Amino acid sequence: MKASPASIAELPVVVIGAGPSGLAAAAHLLEQGLEPLVLEAESQVGASIREWGHIKLFSPWRYNVDAAAARLLDPTGWESPRATALPTGAELVHDYLEPLANTPELAGRIRTDHRVLAISRGERDKTHVQARTGEPFVLRVAHAGEVLQLHARAVIDASGTWGTPNPLGAAGLPALGEERPEVARRLLGSLPDVLGVDADRLSGRHILVVGAGHSAVNTLLNLAALRRRDHATTISWAIRGESAERVYGGGDADQLPARGALGQRLRRLVEEGEITLHTGAEVHALAVVEPSAASQPGDSHSHAPQSDDDAVTAALEVSFADGRRTRADYLAAATGFRPQLQMLRELRIELDPAVESPRRLATLIDPEFHSCGTVQAHGADVLAHPEEGFFLAGMKSYGRAPTFLLATGYEQVRSIAAHLAGADAAARSLNLPETGVCSGVSAPDPDAGVEAGSGAHAAGVDAPGADGAQSCGAPASDAAQSCSSFSPEPVGAGAAARIGASTGVLHGRAG
Ligand SMILES: Cc1cc2nc3c(=O)[nH]c(=O)nc-3n(C[C@H](O)[C@H](O)[C@H](O)COP(=O)(O)OP(=O)(O)OC[C@H]3O[C@@H](n4cnc5c(N)ncnc54)[C@H](O)[C@@H]3O)c2cc1C
Repeated sequence: MKASPASIAELPVVVIGAGPSGLAAAAHLLEQGLEPLVLEAESQVGASIREWGHIKLFSPWRYNVDAAAARLLDPTGWESPRATALPTGAELVHDYLEPLANTPELAGRIRTDHRVLAISRGERDKTHVQARTGEPFVLRVAHAGEVLQLHARAVIDASGTWGTPNPLGAAGLPALGEERPEVARRLLGSLPDVLGVDADRLSGRHILVVGAGHSAVNTLLNLAALRRRDHATTISWAIRGESAERVYGGGDADQLPARGALGQRLRRLVEEGEITLHTGAEVHALAVVEPSAASQPGDSHSHAPQSDDDAVTAALEVSFADGRRTRADYLAAATGFRPQLQMLRELRIELDPAVESPRRLATLIDPEFHSCGTVQAHGADVLAHPEEGFFLAGMKSYGRAPTFLLATGYEQVRSIAAHLAGADAAARSLNLPETGVCSGVSAPDPDAGVEAGSGAHAAGVDAPGADGAQSCGAPASDAAQSCSSFSPEPVGAGAAARIGASTGVLHGRAG
């Protein structure tokens, strides 16, 4: 039976994900007189950001708070954070997302532990274009061990990309063996909390970092700080390029002295043998082996131990495409992120085949040409798909491009909400500085004695530009012009200067 327009109008606009983009979308929908329902897969709002809570953001508070969200927060007595300060991920959640989710307007409109599995429309699959036109969206949602079915008049998918990191294999496929459980247990993810919660686990172990973006750089520098505490800690670093020069940056000639200093520090650590660098290293296969087992060429899956719960007695063996092998206890894969598209299979979406963003957005965000600060404001028209009423927003809308900024996402959802309400949805100017907004990486100063648990001791995300590290979202050649550092924000005794970086690397590559 076809739903009537009146009954469809009573349905909520479902927002997928209670991250900053999803909560901002809900705030804008309310301002437009529309009913939002936010479905969050995890048990708390800001779930992705909590996982990198130890990282300091590179953009200051003034760009991280959505205007409609602030209008909900202001009457609650919320204390607006200092506009120029750089929050950690944990502070972004605690000082902004949690109070926002607890406002009387939003509190009853967010359902946690509701994971969207799939979306369709009406009672026909997507080949029946006419029969679906004007029909409500249908969402399959996992909750408390059950699968529920919900309906929506429109859907904004703001579910981010954090949950789907790029695999280690150079061709964009998992390296052979990468998905085996005993291997997966030795993979640390993109941004381990090296000097915080992960310190005990990593201290005295051999850690291999894969990637050449800022996640990799900062993990390496943090590991070096850990090694100063425990000299048994061993650090290796694998990059696809033949040289790490681009990662080291311009040194004294760098227009950002602090950034140049970080690169030089990394160079020094490599030259002094504190970090073993493998260049031209494309990860081909991973296997867990007994440390005593001799490594035989072509033998990457042999010797898998029966019990694999102890990384000391069983090592992770990494085979590179050229036949070289190395072993470590843990591997930090700083290889970028990609969107989860499976749940959108029954929607008529139009994505750029490479970037996996809405097709019209791809040219605006291509990290080969844009810094995060130069992406122009864009809204509902650019983000539209053939499936009317469905939008990708926030980090997920950028697909594999790493140049996303919250400020851009907030303008996206403002425009989408206006469009859904039939109001003027034209994208407004973002007023982002081309420089500065993409900046602010921290890493421990070797001489500063950063201690475990000292708060925001690590930072950084993979930087765009070929192999990233010296770029702030612009092509490497332009990097110095497109980035500038904010005033360093002290994060406690021993805090290091913060320098430029942005999210991800070229098309999600990180090494
Ligand atoms: C380390 C790091 C530092 C960054 N620093 C900055 C910065 O300084 N400035 C800046 O502007 N940007 C920064 N970014 C980029 C970006 O702003 C963040 O990634 C931000 O979290 C994106 O917000 P989002 O709401 O789009 O996605 P997310 O924060 O990832 O939120 C998505 C939410 O959707 C939920 N979800 C996922 N799948 C489902 C599902 N199927 N059903 C229901 N819910 C689901 C998740 O649990 C999560 O809560 C940074 C990113 C990283 C990784």
